[in-house]
Amino acid sequence: PPEQLPLDPTKKTLVVLGSGWGSISLLKKLDTEDYNVVVISPRNFFLFTPLLPSCTTGTIEHRSIMEPLRHIIRHKKRAVKYYEAEATKIDVDRRVVKINDFSDVKGNVSETEVPFDYLVVGVGAENATFGIPGVKENACFLKEIGDAQQIRKKVMDCIETATFKDQTEEEKDRLLHMVVVGGGPTGIEFAAELQDFFEEDLRKWVPDIADRFKVTLVEALPNVLPMFSKALIDYTEKTFKDENITVRTKTMVKKVTDKNIEVEATQPDGSKVKENINYGLLVWATGNAVRSVVRDLMGQIPAQKNSRRGLAVNDYLVVDGTDGIWALGDCSATKYAPTAQVASQQGNFLARLFNSMAKTQAVEEELRSLDARLQASTDDAEKTLLTAEINAKGRSLSKVKQLSPFQYSHQGSLAYIGADRAVADLNWFGGAISSATGGELTYLFWRSAYVSMVFSLRNRILVLTDWLKTKTFGRDVSRE
Ligand code: FAD
Ligand code: NAD
Repeated sequence: PPEQLPLDPTKKTLVVLGSGWGSISLLKKLDTEDYNVVVISPRNFFLFTPLLPSCTTGTIEHRSIMEPLRHIIRHKKRAVKYYEAEATKIDVDRRVVKINDFSDVKGNVSETEVPFDYLVVGVGAENATFGIPGVKENACFLKEIGDAQQIRKKVMDCIETATFKDQTEEEKDRLLHMVVVGGGPTGIEFAAELQDFFEEDLRKWVPDIADRFKVTLVEALPNVLPMFSKALIDYTEKTFKDENITVRTKTMVKKVTDKNIEVEATQPDGSKVKENINYGLLVWATGNAVRSVVRDLMGQIPAQKNSRRGLAVNDYLVVDGTDGIWALGDCSATKYAPTAQVASQQGNFLARLFNSMAKTQAVEEELRSLDARLQASTDDAEKTLLTAEINAKGRSLSKVKQLSPFQYSHQGSLAYIGADRAVADLNWFGGAISSATGGELTYLFWRSAYVSMVFSLRNRILVLTDWLKTKTFGRDVSRE
């Protein structure tokens, strides 16, 4: 990488929280020459979440979808500071962020403060559990790399334990029952990957489990994938049936213990029936909840009183009730769904906004100095020249100031549903044409779309190699 400009004490400090879809898109397009940028995140890499479900079974190795933050910031014009830490409190009045190093290795200092002139909050969301007892203690989630690794290990643990000598029949059935809660895209894609793993690899290498391995998806609403069109919902449910994945809709999980879940199922006549379902692996994918640092920030700002889903922002992503604080992605509450597509477009928008703010400030400074020269000048010819220059600068200032508000452009929704099939609700030409497709061709489209979207050429090559490896040798069934 080329030599970088050092930090400049005359520039404003822009602190960016998080290294996910929102913050990294901002960082990619931001002209760091104009600011002293500080990034704070407990994760020193960007994670390409759309392929995370594939890591739970080893279709893709986890490092293939991670891009080190150090690679990203080392290519910026001016040096960017990075602290591997969690923001634990954003103090709006004092304009500082309290940060804490929760990593395993700590130095003398593991807690400190970072002052900011401008702040971008892109900390994402945490897993919603709705306070349902036992979920946090017993379920696996699917948001981070560590979650995918834990699931991969636990699937193999369940299989090896089920085949342990003298294991009872009932216990074998429990251990080989994989339950997924939440019929959103995370739950659907994970269930699909798991069934693929069973059909393509486990059935062959561990034939003892061939008749017992079972995947059940539990969803509280009447259907899965509510963001897709009716035809694609039906197609997904039919494909799952063909793949032998049991879908239990209108079934709400009420309580979780270490070996079973208690559900309340709504019958066709509207009556409710309680039932216990035993499981070996439980994966919980019921959407997002607000992180504590965000909740605390909202508590400091009266204008956020009525916001529930996250930080309320205006059309320019400024946090309502603040000055110089922006929010993007899953930690903000907007009319859009909490997706990578939205977060990355918001990141691009904020980069444009900060780049244009810096330009505005530079032009304003030039205007001030021209004006001072004009006031001091006694020469008529010089005055005419200076006036013309001031007018020209004034026009260019109004141009850079004209940034229109954030507007989301929906490209469509894509999800993998197993057995080399995917569903896609796509918008072409800015929504002028839309199409809903499902099947094997859509799967090829899903693959090529994701491989073209991963962060770097390095990631692209790694993902393609993993797919080829899986196709050629099958997935690795050793437990790490
Ligand atoms: P994130 O990407 O979650 O990033 C948050 C960042 O903040 C992380 O770096 C985190 O470490 C950091 N952080 C957390 N706490 C703190 C703190 N206290 N201080 C500082 N930093 C902190 N969306 C799509 O559009 N298409 C898809 O195909 C798709 N697939 C998905 C598959 C899965 C399995 C999952 C879980 C999500 C998927 N999504 C998809 C949704 C998408 O990943 C999110 O909407 C997106 O990640 C939101 O971006 P973000 O920047 O707001 O948050
Ligand atoms: P989600 O919010 O989309 O779906 C969660 C589901 O869980 C809902 O259908 C809800 O009815 C159900 N649920 C909630 N409580 C329940 C309970 N107690 N018992 C049974 N079911 C319950 O969550 P997600 O799938 O994690 O997705 C989060 C966000 O990430 C969404 O915006 C989604 O669009 C995005 N995402 C997109 C993709 C993709 O485009 N391929 C993949 C993954 C995630």
